Amino acid sequence: MYDSHVHSENSKDGHDSVQKIADYLPHTGIVSCAITDHCELVKETQFDVIEERFKKIESEINKVNKTEKYNLMFGIELGSAQMNAALAEKIINSFNFDVVLGSVHSVPDFDDVYKLREGNDIQLIRSVLKNYFDEIKKLVIWNKFDVLTHLWYPVRYINLQEQIFFEFKTEIEEILSLLAQNNKALEVNTKASGKDLTQFILTCVQLFAQNGGKFITLGSDAHYVEDIGYDFNRMIKMLHNCGFKYYVYYKNREPITVQI
Ligand SMILES: [Zn+2]
Ligand SMILES: [Zn+2]
Repeated sequence: MYDSHVHSENSKDGHDSVQKIADYLPHTGIVSCAITDHCELVKETQFDVIEERFKKIESEINKVNKTEKYNLMFGIELGSAQMNAALAEKIINSFNFDVVLGSVHSVPDFDDVYKLREGNDIQLIRSVLKNYFDEIKKLVIWNKFDVLTHLWYPVRYINLQEQIFFEFKTEIEEILSLLAQNNKALEVNTKASGKDLTQFILTCVQLFAQNGGKFITLGSDAHYVEDIGYDFNRMIKMLHNCGFKYYVYYKNREPITVQI
């Protein structure tokens, strides 16, 4: 199995070194993973600072990959690239990434969506979600990433899965349809922060497939080595039941299929 979304200590909220991640892989059932540290473009705007950090990550990955048993992928999780497309493109063009993840964490007039809570006013939740899906749509229209990661990011933090889906089905379907037309991948992100997101994930995967989507990646979004590959066996069964014969991971920004 291949995990296309792992954070190292080079992300502010990551904990483990690239070497530790590589050394831990044999314990996980994962053949290889992509190191996809954060670059949050609403917060980080200085190219030279970003460049220095990712050069360091790249050299750590290259060092680990020199020993024959490892073959880690070099990636990046670009947050809100749609808000600073020029900088995002400069970063992408400055490195030989294997995979570029596109994500949205923060929305205008709020902050990071993880700050949403059950007890928040429903009108606030609605307006944050509306902004969230608007930003995701802009990101998908920008289209210079490989994988749309954790489309269900807000759902990790609030307990209204069915209601959210019902209220935003049009927006979600439009996003998944655009993603499919652009031949980009949808990530089955298995980080759930204690919630059961199975139904939401399943519905998104089905909608993506109905709209012609072909490429699915698996991403644990691990911030600790113990979470690498979390819940992948169950999700692979789900993909199989949805009619997928394979999932993909990316090398040199090209999808490589893994039979299910
Ligand atoms: Zn993320
Ligand atoms: Zn992440």
